[in-house]
Amino acid sequence: MDFYNLKHPEEKVSFGQAVRQGLGRDQGLFFPERLPHLDARMLSVLPRHQRYQAILKPFVEGTFSDGTLAQMVAEAFPFEAPLVPVGPHFALELFHGPTLAFKDFGARFMAQCLKRLGSGQPITILTATSGDTGAAVAHAFHNQPGVRVLVLYPKGKISRPQEQLFCTLGGNIETLAVEGDFDQCQALVKTAFDDEEVKGRCGLNSANSINISRLLAQILYFWDLALSQPDLVVSVPCGNFGDLTAGLMAKAMGAPIKRFVAATNSNDTVPRFLAGGQWQPRDTVATLSNAMDVSRPNNWPRVAKLLDSQGWTLAAGAVSEADTRAAVQALQLQGYLGEPHCAVAFKALLDQLESGERGAFLCTAHPAKFAEAVGAILGMELALPGPLARAMEKPNLSRTIAADWQALRAQLLS
Ligand SMILES: *Cc1c(COP(=O)(O)O)cnc(C)c1O
Repeated sequence: MDFYNLKHPEEKVSFGQAVRQGLGRDQGLFFPERLPHLDARMLSVLPRHQRYQAILKPFVEGTFSDGTLAQMVAEAFPFEAPLVPVGPHFALELFHGPTLAFKDFGARFMAQCLKRLGSGQPITILTATSGDTGAAVAHAFHNQPGVRVLVLYPKGKISRPQEQLFCTLGGNIETLAVEGDFDQCQALVKTAFDDEEVKGRCGLNSANSINISRLLAQILYFWDLALSQPDLVVSVPCGNFGDLTAGLMAKAMGAPIKRFVAATNSNDTVPRFLAGGQWQPRDTVATLSNAMDVSRPNNWPRVAKLLDSQGWTLAAGAVSEADTRAAVQALQLQGYLGEPHCAVAFKALLDQLESGERGAFLCTAHPAKFAEAVGAILGMELALPGPLARAMEKPNLSRTIAADWQALRAQLLS
């Protein structure tokens, strides 16, 4: 299938090109030329990996053969996304991958794509992270021949378990602790992509959440959810709105999902926009659900396109810090240990449900990744799961650099 640039619809590229390029002209996002309608009953009788192949096939056709796609699916998704009852509702647990966050789905599928699209030229994945993305990307590309990964993160501003998870890998993974904040890390990445010499010599790719391969991987678990419990209201904890985009795409393809709730923390650009019609991002504020601290969500043009073409409206809710804490406690009273991101989705779901409706909320990270916050809210200590406990004991291999383009440039060209 071809993908077109939402800003310049005449720019059309194959799936392979869209993955390699990331963005189209004028920073336009790629979008599938059509959304294939799939038969839910047919999909529901297939084993999990075959179902995933059937869902992805129309999108990757022309780039990957059926046999290659089968291998990619098997290698990218060895773990599942269990649906756990919480009172009358359901938690969709997306944190059973190697870095205990839902970003494993997208990063691992993207790694499979780039590995097989290799043109023989070296690839450098350069990405800035405030936590989960860096870990998922580093693990997904670890030991992949021909790929070098550089992850920038703000020194001292991410939790130690998060840092240990990706700064202890070594090999083709280089981690740089930047003396600055996350915005400075992102600015450095942006500068690198504007430097034609560096871009060409390194074969730069950002692996960020606007890459279409990451979104396609996320469609899969919305189908799993819908086939196992049809007709639910699904609440998605949103930052850059990639996850919600994938959910809307699954529904447009025929997945039996009743409707969606877009849940945000105090960074509420979208809920304010949907309530009043004005798009007015404010300064980003730090919250307990820090992976959602985004005030200019970069996937919004895709969401807008889907709502417009399907004629759907979207429910949305912004959840305060006090309500996030209360929701972590309410979940515990129902016997479920949740962290701040899923708590935001849970609270927004309860606020939006109408009588007779049942819902699901997405759990995007393992509670132990936010052990400090969760422990403080619940007055208890959380045990670290195996992969995290093992990473805590390894040496941190990061190098510290100044928030300075020349320092990073030297590192890139070394
Ligand atoms: C990235 C992230 C989100 C937000 O997902 P988007 O696709 O950016 O909306 C939510 N929760 C966690 C734990 C994340 O890491």
